[in-house]
Amino acid sequence: MTKDLVCGMQVDEQQARSQGLTSEYQGRTYYFCSPGCKRQFDQHPERYAEQPRDGR
Ligand SMILES: [Zn+2]
Repeated sequence: MTKDLVCGMQVDEQQARSQGLTSEYQGRTYYFCSPGCKRQFDQHPERYAEQPRDGR
């Protein structure tokens, strides 16, 4: 399971993938519970994506 960063719900990766509810951003794949969440992410990915951090 992973988190839908738009609404905070837990999402099953395989299920999201089978429904096309995934987006790639900066080399990472993100999973969503619904087309609406995917659309919001696609419009403003920088608002939702986790910022990559080095070290620590
Ligand atoms: Zn969602």
